Amino acid sequence: MTAGKTDDGAKKEAYVTAENVSSFSDAGSTQAGSIHGNSYVKRQPLLLHSCCGPCSTACIERLLSDWDITVFYYNPNITDKEEYELRKSEQIRFIREYSRKNLLGERINFVEGKYDPAEYYSAVSGHEGDREGGKRCELCFRLRLTAAAAEAKKLGIDTFGTTLTVSPYKNYDIITMIGTELAVANGLSWLDRDFKKKAGYQRSIEMSKEYGLYRQHFCGCEFSKQD
Ligand code: SF4
Repeated sequence: MTAGKTDDGAKKEAYVTAENVSSFSDAGSTQAGSIHGNSYVKRQPLLLHSCCGPCSTACIERLLSDWDITVFYYNPNITDKEEYELRKSEQIRFIREYSRKNLLGERINFVEGKYDPAEYYSAVSGHEGDREGGKRCELCFRLRLTAAAAEAKKLGIDTFGTTLTVSPYKNYDIITMIGTELAVANGLSWLDRDFKKKAGYQRSIEMSKEYGLYRQHFCGCEFSKQD
């Protein structure tokens, strides 16, 4: 949590503008937590790396009270192109349908990173045979979060995070260590969230069912198909 803004920190940054004091007062302070596209609370921009639509669901739901979100889909670890495209289209569909349903306007944006599985193979070289959750995955996280930090910088977004921690199969401590390190190196803040807590993973399953999202049964790389 050293370099990051915690959830609490983010909440402290949300504020009422001069033009909207009355509507905010009338509505009560709990309105600051509304997910709707209201204009009376200024939210901070966040770049959220996303591995897939299903994992993004509960994360986005939890973040919208405090952040305007740019979803960054950078996943060259999905070594099968057809699978990559399917997950990408489900991600886009979820953003579109969720935004429409909750009257969010343009509060969730989508940006696709470069898709080149060669980047992934190069990053995990020598660790292809590692078990899932081992060094191969750490290198995979680092690859994706490095790109997320670079994209946040490019877009002028100060804070970045990832949906990866919603999965019980992903190591939160390692992800946070990498994210924090990259934040320091790039002059950014790391959104330190273990999204699986408070039944976040279960919520992502519920929401995926609600939106009829495709949920894959392997992590992404060709090696995870055998794990
Ligand atoms: S199992 Fe998942 S996290 Fe691990 S290397 Fe493969 S795609 Fe990356």
